[in-house]
Amino acid sequence: MKKREIIIIGIILLAAVGALVFMRLSSASQNQLYVKITVDGELYDTIPLTDDLDTEFTISTDLGENHVVIKNGTVDVDWADCANQVCVNTKSAEYLHDTIVCLPHKLIVEIVDGE
Ligand SMILES: [Zn+2]
Repeated sequence: MKKREIIIIGIILLAAVGALVFMRLSSASQNQLYVKITVDGELYDTIPLTDDLDTEFTISTDLGENHVVIKNGTVDVDWADCANQVCVNTKSAEYLHDTIVCLPHKLIVEIVDGE
């Protein structure tokens, strides 16, 4: 009887650990954030936002240029040739729904989840 109980407890523990690992994995994938860049209402690019991503690029359109820096899990527009410089002065986007907008260039940089 004792041996049987130990086996049953072992199976329950294994199942619990398995469920925990599964929950962690699925919640991790749900929490994956993306940098969604829209220009004039059209999708320009979607980039998975990860802590180890370190990149920068210039978004160049007929309306002008915006320089985007992605590092340490944050997104920033650190340079632009727009008139009002609102996008440059906006603080880095880091969390879900954080948004950097450049109205003169019709540019929207937004943090979204994996939908
Ligand atoms: Zn701007």
